[in-house]
Amino acid sequence: MLTDADIVAARPPKPHWDPWRPYAFHVEWECAASRRVEDVATIFLVNRECPFRCTMCDLWKYTLDERVPVGAIPAQIEQALSQLSPARHVKLYNAGNFFDAQAIPPEDHPVIADLVRHFQTVIVENHPRLTDERCVRFRDLLGTRLEVALGLETIHPEILPALNKRMTVEDFDRAAGFLRDHDINVRTFVLLKPPGLNERDGIEWALRSVEHAFAAGADCCSVIPTRAGNGVMDQLQASGEFVPPTLRSLEELHERAIALNGGRVFIDLWDVEKLFECPNCGPARVERIQQMNLTQQIGPPIKCDCRSFEQ
Ligand code: SF4
Ligand SMILES: [Zn+2]
Repeated sequence: MLTDADIVAARPPKPHWDPWRPYAFHVEWECAASRRVEDVATIFLVNRECPFRCTMCDLWKYTLDERVPVGAIPAQIEQALSQLSPARHVKLYNAGNFFDAQAIPPEDHPVIADLVRHFQTVIVENHPRLTDERCVRFRDLLGTRLEVALGLETIHPEILPALNKRMTVEDFDRAAGFLRDHDINVRTFVLLKPPGLNERDGIEWALRSVEHAFAAGADCCSVIPTRAGNGVMDQLQASGEFVPPTLRSLEELHERAIALNGGRVFIDLWDVEKLFECPNCGPARVERIQQMNLTQQIGPPIKCDCRSFEQ
């Protein structure tokens, strides 16, 4: 089993970030709870690195080693909002846990709430084990709908501990139940094909994990194709213990997860070009997944003579 030290030792150098500027922001379209396609502003906040060291995580690349000064997070949000076109919902993503006091200073919560309460939904990320009364206090400050995105990753009994997330499925269930009991929406991140699973098992366990998340109260699931690029994942790829999922697996998982009818299912398409196996059908498959993300309807299959179609 990999330790924190192994994972950190494998990292490439970390870029430098200004604590007073968000590292990115954009407006994108998403199928909302209403099942209409609505605009969502996403602001990627610079803050202190998450204290966990999950095997598959590359989010530390966008973080600092020190806590940001009080006032820096509101300044980042203000900057982004001043340049973004209006949107109905907002994601405040901090590459970690919004309710970690070392990440987002709690002193800033009231100002943050003032800046974003005009959005219909405010979506933040958080570790299940940091999900407690802090979320309820922020919900009360906001006065608009709060949604907390929790990483379940996988319910596989051996793979979840091996991801070094220091969390059990029961921790996730408790956090999701707590949020639902306090009228806070739950979004869930699920990994497709973490290290240790072959292509078929990767799909089956991702599907079971999505099903579990919906049963635990999640409104939507975002499925992330596991990728290399953080150092340790590249080592696992080099030794054959990790092979990224195929585009065809993304499509199959998406189709079957939508068909569960448990809630919305999104496939994260960041850097998806790396999964192209065939120049003819790669872009068409991504376009199909994009349409399925927006409509939550299973689109017509892509026909191509390539190997990825045969699988
Ligand atoms: S808890 Fe989330 S942000 Fe922190 S290391 Fe794990 S995956 Fe990355
Ligand atoms: Zn093809």
